[in-house]
This record gives sequence, C-alpha cells and structure tokens, in this order.
Amino acid sequence: MNLRIGDDLRVAVSANRRTPFAMIDAFVLSKEDWILAAIENLRAKADGEAVSQQYDDEECLAFFESISKRIFPLFAQVLNEKPSLSVKEMKSRWGVCHVDKKHIVLNRRLMGKPLDLVEYVVLHEYVHFVHPNHQQGFHALMGLYMPDYRQRRKRLNGH
Ligand SMILES: [Zn+2]
Repeated sequence: MNLRIGDDLRVAVSANRRTPFAMIDAFVLSKEDWILAAIENLRAKADGEAVSQQYDDEECLAFFESISKRIFPLFAQVLNEKPSLSVKEMKSRWGVCHVDKKHIVLNRRLMGKPLDLVEYVVLHEYVHFVHPNHQQGFHALMGLYMPDYRQRRKRLNGH
C-alpha cells in the first residue's frame, strides 16, 4: 500500500483492488504519527487564514478530534465521556469551553498553526473543565501536563 499527502494536504492511499477496507484503515491508522507530522510541516509553510479556508468544517473537526482523543485520557476521571467539539471562525479567541455542556469550540484558524500550538489550545480548554477560570489552579494544571505551555501560548499569539 502506498500513502501520500498532496499540496492540498489531502491524504491519498493506493492499494490493490482486493485489499479489504479494514486493512486499509488499519494501515492509515498505523501511520497516524507520520501523517500528522507531514501535514504539520506542509501547514507551517502556509499562512494560517489562507490554510483554514482550504478545509471544510468536517475536515477541521477530524483534525481537532485526533488531538482531543489523545488529551482526553488525562481527564477521563473528571469527564465521563469525551467533550463534543465544534469549529467556528473567531476573531479574538482560539477556543471556548462550555463547561456545563461539556463542549469545546475551536477556531478554524488553528488549522494554519503548528501541531504543538493546537495541542496547547485543546489542552487549555480541557483544563477549564477542572478550573473554569484562569486562577492559580488552572496554571498549575497546565504546567503539570504541558511544562512549556507559556512558550507555546506566546508563539501562538505571535510574541
Ligand atoms: Zn481559558
């Protein structure tokens, strides 16, 4: 089987006609880290807003879900199930956490940011399920799970 990523950041797989779909899925999943790293490199070369327009909401959600899936286990004891996600074009916020609804809204423009900065935003919103505001406890938990979160936040906001 053969895997490639086009300039439009779409992942294409070629396989023999008789290869079961389940095997193709398993192959793609086994390459998840490689795919995410390759996409990150391509994305970092392009401007954030221009990149975000290349994706529809479903594609944005799929990317954010892949990150949420990896962060959720840290909060499994607080949240019984993974929070729902939605995407939105926002001017002044990267993410919004609706604690009561167990729902996180993420800015489409994150699609143009490096993976580690998107991870920072997703973790930030998850931490709000434990600490709804930005008090000391919030920062303590961020630092525990992501020791370099302050640097990531600065890079995200262009400092
Ligand atoms: Zn916050």
